[in-house]
Amino acid sequence: NAVFRTQAVTKVYETGEVRVVALDGVDLTLHAGELTVLLGPSGSGKSTLLNILGGLDHASEGRVWFKDLELTKLNERALTRFRRDHVGFVFQFYNLVASLSARENVALVTDIAPNPMSPEEALDIVGLGHRMNHFPAELSGGEQQRVAIARAIAKRPEVLLCDEPTGALDSKTGVQVLEALDRINKDLGTTTAIITHAAEIRKMAHRVIRFQDGRIVSIEHNETRLTPS
Ligand code: ADP
Ligand code: ADP
Repeated sequence: NAVFRTQAVTKVYETGEVRVVALDGVDLTLHAGELTVLLGPSGSGKSTLLNILGGLDHASEGRVWFKDLELTKLNERALTRFRRDHVGFVFQFYNLVASLSARENVALVTDIAPNPMSPEEALDIVGLGHRMNHFPAELSGGEQQRVAIARAIAKRPEVLLCDEPTGALDSKTGVQVLEALDRINKDLGTTTAIITHAAEIRKMAHRVIRFQDGRIVSIEHNETRLTPS
């Protein structure tokens, strides 16, 4: 029951004389409803892979599918539509609009999505229903990240791709953000991939995929975390 599948994905960056192989023949599957953690040293290709899955970047070689849709065959316009309709992104930095309240930041997305939840519902899910009229500057880093997560899920994406969502947070606040992502995966069934160094997430994950030098070196399947049926 694959949501994403890659076959021999390679990514080469060439800048002048310098040639960097960021991904070197990656085959992986992200299963429907699962929470997958991507681990590995800095520079091992995790972000590059997440960006290719989310349609933000192109593979140099190999093939990528989102369910039956082959992303590696789409033109830019179709890839943009895929991103808009199916993918929520969370990055290390929150990119909230400073002059808008939490609710208004989320409403930027819900106003244009075809089948959104309300901003209030999205903020409730991340535990910020009581702060929806606060502005970003009045919120802690962890709360701002949870607003960014509410914004990402409000359009009800099938997948949520998170690149170091706790990278700018202390570990206690980071755990609250990871717990919010875990709750979204459990309650909404959103297929989720998270790049993180936070050890706490590993017991929450269905699968932990470890990268090194642009390759997958191990995949652990957590049998104690029930897989959705
Ligand atoms: P990770 O997310 O595991 O830290 P990345 O996917 O960001 O790894 O990077 C993998 C490799 O690709 C690194 O060597 C990095 O320097 C290189 N790289 C990433 N993005 C670019 C880019 N836009 N141009 C050139 N090299 C890049
Ligand atoms: P063009 O710009 O050449 O008109 P389209 O944007 O219509 O191309 O997309 C090309 C094909 O990809 C379409 O036939 C469509 O079925 C498929 N496609 C594009 N985006 C999606 C998507 N988000 N979900 C499912 N299929 C898509």
